[in-house]
Amino acid sequence: MDLDETDVEILRILQENGRLSFRRIAERVKVSVPTVSSRISNMEDMGIIRGYRADLDSERMGELSAILTIKVKPSDLKTVADKFRSDKHVRKLFLLGNSKLHMICTFSGAHLINDFVARLGEVQEIIEYDISNIIHVVKEDQRALVEPEISVVLQCAFCKKEMREEPIKLKAEDRDYYLCCTSCLKSFQEKMEKLKAKA
Ligand SMILES: [Zn+2]
Repeated sequence: MDLDETDVEILRILQENGRLSFRRIAERVKVSVPTVSSRISNMEDMGIIRGYRADLDSERMGELSAILTIKVKPSDLKTVADKFRSDKHVRKLFLLGNSKLHMICTFSGAHLINDFVARLGEVQEIIEYDISNIIHVVKEDQRALVEPEISVVLQCAFCKKEMREEPIKLKAEDRDYYLCCTSCLKSFQEKMEKLKAKA
């Protein structure tokens, strides 16, 4: 599924300033306010727009960050990722192709970095690691790069698989859901019915 010029233009504006009103966006893109509103809600449903949040400056907040790279056995990647994903100090966590994990961690004081490093020693799956403190941030943009051609990779609302083929679209509760196959569609509808019954 591809995004058109209007979508791309809206994304570019929103990435710059997530607080602009639909009316201001409509003026800049030269489309109607309802068009802006429906394009944005579609892109939210597709998971392209993940949310709207304040962009806080960690340096101004007096925090320290470190970059950590961990080497593990390929079979341990997921286990180790699971051990770190809910740690509040781990702000970004990437799995790399060469059976490494890469993390950006933030701390409110230097002693907390030492505590964190001490805890690394308790994770048996770690073969080796490298940690470096960030001394200065030269550039820190959002990872998404809004280019003129964007091909959307949707995630199945039920099995979470990435879908490269044309998905099945389900309209429910005022939003669109995308499913990979009829069996996921069926299971998803059943799940929604159950949730509705509970509510
Ligand atoms: Zn599926």
